[in-house]
Amino acid sequence: MEEQLQKNSVTSFDFFIVGQGIAGSILSLSLIEAGFSVCVIDNAKLSSCSAVAAGIWNPVVFKRLSKSWLADDIVPELLRFYSHFETIFETSLITKRIIIKTFTELQEKEFWLKKAVSENGYLENKIYTNYNLSNNQIIDSYSKVLEAGNLNVIDFLSQTKKYISERFNYLDETFSFNELKNEDDEGIYKNISFKNIIFCEGHLISNNPFFNWIPNKPAKGEVLIIKCNDLILENDILNKGIFIMPLGNSLYKVGATYQWDKLDDLPTSDKLIELETRLKQVIHCSYEVIKHEAGVRPSVIDRRPIVGVHPKHKNMFVFNGFGTKAVMLAPYFSKQLVSFIKNKSIILADVNPARFMN
Ligand SMILES: Cc1cc2nc3c(=O)[nH]c(=O)nc-3n(C[C@H](O)[C@H](O)[C@H](O)COP(=O)(O)OP(=O)(O)OC[C@H]3O[C@@H](n4cnc5c(N)ncnc54)[C@H](O)[C@@H]3O)c2cc1C
Repeated sequence: MEEQLQKNSVTSFDFFIVGQGIAGSILSLSLIEAGFSVCVIDNAKLSSCSAVAAGIWNPVVFKRLSKSWLADDIVPELLRFYSHFETIFETSLITKRIIIKTFTELQEKEFWLKKAVSENGYLENKIYTNYNLSNNQIIDSYSKVLEAGNLNVIDFLSQTKKYISERFNYLDETFSFNELKNEDDEGIYKNISFKNIIFCEGHLISNNPFFNWIPNKPAKGEVLIIKCNDLILENDILNKGIFIMPLGNSLYKVGATYQWDKLDDLPTSDKLIELETRLKQVIHCSYEVIKHEAGVRPSVIDRRPIVGVHPKHKNMFVFNGFGTKAVMLAPYFSKQLVSFIKNKSIILADVNPARFMN
């Protein structure tokens, strides 16, 4: 009752947030935690990127076996963030998992052990043998990536929407720039007023007249959900060119593809063939494709997120460009953006929109 009264009495919000994918969700929750009021607008039908994501975080770059960018700071922050909201939402959101990396060549094993000893604590310093992938398939040689896992993205998005709707304001509709009136210390959208506006529209930032100068390089991706009764991957994620992640009840998420043209959310027969060809090289049991989905990852040309204030409009912010890694990066950078807003602390130059001002 008290909450309802509070909600009705709010006519103006501290922040108006456009887009509630992984980025908009994490930023909205971080702002609420910092004591701000928010109004979120999202039409989930416009971009399915977050909804199709596997939600994996992986602190290792497989190509070089190096730590992924800022991993030592980012992994503790993502664990803190999601665990905190597991408590608030009273539901489980993350699963900590090991990523199994398989080897075929002696050189690969030697390189792995060298990296594990010299610089990368996320690589298990040991080569294992005989991983039972199914009753008739054993992986001879493998090792483990530690401190990985996945977020249940669908549950996280729906819990966040419910949380915001019950406490603040949530508009389930398409944002139209024609309805926005913005001055530097106040904005109005239809009948809602706010002090600041933050854009989190994913790859649809390309339609944003205030931020369309950001050099985007979005990448379409496709994934499958398969049913396979013979696989015994209970908690681990298998990585062998593609990832196979267990979802429970003999269901597995398999992905992903990359494509830089034909940027829509439609699954294609070409990518279905590509994924199945790669899958059959990894598993030798029969399976059924249950679902085939696609989305467009929002990426910037230098493959870093874009987080900060508009160069001219001081109450206008962007939180976007998380590419293949929104689950991992967004908690850390939402903390930076909130801290910038509250305390004028510095945003990392690598992600600041100012890097494109020249
Ligand atoms: C196949 C695939 C697998 C992936 N796997 C992983 C993974 O395992 N781990 C990981 O971290 N990342 C993964 N990603 C990447 C991840 O999905 C993205 O980094 C993330 O979803 C980006 O989130 P976002 O909120 O910036 O954008 P989006 O998810 O696109 O969200 C933007 C939201 O804003 C809404 N919107 C846009 N414009 C408007 C408007 N005008 N009015 C109203 N609403 C609007 C959209 O509809 C959408 O709801 C994967 C991506 C793909 C495609």
